[in-house]
Amino acid sequence: MKMKLGIISRFLFHKILNEGCWIKLIDFNVKEERERYRHSTSHIMAHAVKELFPEAKLAIGPAIDDGFYYDFDLDRTLAPEDLIVIEKKMSEIIKQNHPFVRRVVPKKEAVDLFRDKGEGYKVELLQDIPDEEVSLYEEGGFIDLCRGPHLDSTGQVSAFKLLSVAGAYWRGNEKNKMLQRIYGTSFTKKEDLKQHLDFLEEVKKRDHRKLGKELDLFSTSDEIGAGLIIWHPNGALIRRTIEDFWLHEHYKADYKILCTPHIAKLNLWQKSGHLDFYRENMYSPMEIEGIDYELKPMNCPFHIHVYKTSLRSYKDLPVRYAELGTVYRYERSGVLHGLLRVRGFTQDDAHIFCREDQIENEILKVLDFTLFILKTFGFSHYDIYLSTQPEKFVGTPGNWERATNALKQALEAKGLAYAIDPGEGVFYGPKIDIKVKDSLNRPWQCSTIQVDFNNPERFDMSYRGSDGKEHRPIMIHRALMGSLERFFGILIEHYAGAFPVWLAPVQVEVLTIAERHAEFAKAFSDRLKSEGIKTELNSENEKIGYKIRNSTMRKVPYLIVIGDKEITENAIMVRKRSGENIGPYTAEEFIGILKEKITSKSQEF
Ligand SMILES: [Zn+2]
Ligand SMILES: [Zn+2]
Repeated sequence: MKMKLGIISRFLFHKILNEGCWIKLIDFNVKEERERYRHSTSHIMAHAVKELFPEAKLAIGPAIDDGFYYDFDLDRTLAPEDLIVIEKKMSEIIKQNHPFVRRVVPKKEAVDLFRDKGEGYKVELLQDIPDEEVSLYEEGGFIDLCRGPHLDSTGQVSAFKLLSVAGAYWRGNEKNKMLQRIYGTSFTKKEDLKQHLDFLEEVKKRDHRKLGKELDLFSTSDEIGAGLIIWHPNGALIRRTIEDFWLHEHYKADYKILCTPHIAKLNLWQKSGHLDFYRENMYSPMEIEGIDYELKPMNCPFHIHVYKTSLRSYKDLPVRYAELGTVYRYERSGVLHGLLRVRGFTQDDAHIFCREDQIENEILKVLDFTLFILKTFGFSHYDIYLSTQPEKFVGTPGNWERATNALKQALEAKGLAYAIDPGEGVFYGPKIDIKVKDSLNRPWQCSTIQVDFNNPERFDMSYRGSDGKEHRPIMIHRALMGSLERFFGILIEHYAGAFPVWLAPVQVEVLTIAERHAEFAKAFSDRLKSEGIKTELNSENEKIGYKIRNSTMRKVPYLIVIGDKEITENAIMVRKRSGENIGPYTAEEFIGILKEKITSKSQEF
């Protein structure tokens, strides 16, 4: 055997000599290798499905974050039991260790091949490929149209699991046929697969749609319209707590609060450039007295209007306007997802208008403010991205460079690590995006800080400089939580519905053991309420064990059970959500502890 080590690149498998044979190690930390491994598993799955259900038509089967999927057109609805059968067949194909063989053929030959096989989706895909030649991959008699790359053979897949079946429109378009998508994942090591499955179990437990229902926080309704969130009393109370905190902190940081309409004339969006650059996210206009109006996708033009209602001098700047502004953006029904992807949402929006010499300082302040707000919600790990000039842009390259440098300098001054996201800026300027890491270490896009050299130009904004001449202010758009809906969804999953005391919609629940304790319990609960503590009283004639279980399911932070002992000793024991008991406390002591937790917005309880 010739032993020649080729170029070992991070895109290739590393080869090592082991007991006289070449075996291939896949570096799972490298995205391309992970994807090659998982995409190869998706071929094996498609192969298994075709063997079991020859009438199934193949669509596409890419690798995705943490796994892969394959879409099939199959009349029979796949059930969880089917996945077990498919897994078994996959194991056989893996055991047979078929090599993946690549073949390059003229496109016409491939079209004929898939047409003969009745694979209409593949034919459609081929028709969109401009190349003269295409590549096919074959293993064990199963042929698929594919660019590759793949593993060398099916036997290299060692640990895999099929996870679920879901409906998916062909090409993601709801006008097309709904196909069946099988999701799965694969790993090089059994332990890694197990760890991942445990993680998925935890993710499922924390799903905000499930917890939203169980804790009665929010809902959506077909009757009202997809992607429109209805906040129930418990959810609305949490939202109000967040809004109060937001308002208070913005006053402290010298922002002025605005409230602006939900619709505006179409011409305004023409002027702002949204019609040219953002049309696909906007709804159709509505006509009022012969003039077209449009639901607002953003708040910016309104804040510009307020700025322009008075003459500004250099001494007036910076001007900071903030608004909890509700906007409406079109999202395809197929991508709507609980609170995370919706059609109407409230941004914690703000616009800062400043002089060029103030831009770095303003961005520094916004960064500080952002990190403070995120920390208050228990987020202290982030991924930060600086997005630069996209293909479609307005303004001059010089403007872009200056703005990008200002953002860079602010990040560096704060000592924050960041990655550059080339070409991902908004059409009007570069931006900083902050993704928070939740308690499962999942990243979520929340905060954004965007410099804008364009809108001040379009709206002819100005201020009188110290030189007596008119100058253009610079505009900074920023949202810290992003949208309240999405942020709430993230919080529910981050806390698994067990909110810290300051956010909890019910902070204390007072329970009675028997009817004779009701009067004392009512007085005690009223006392807490008068101190501003969100308290509920449950003096219903139920077994105490049942009442405790019920409150525990609602994840109420503190339970107080009132019985004979509490009344005679005038002291209470407190049962924490975790089941731990603390006390005894007098009413004053307990109120003191609670108030400290609430005002400090403690993450502990
Ligand atoms: Zn492939
Ligand atoms: Zn804006």
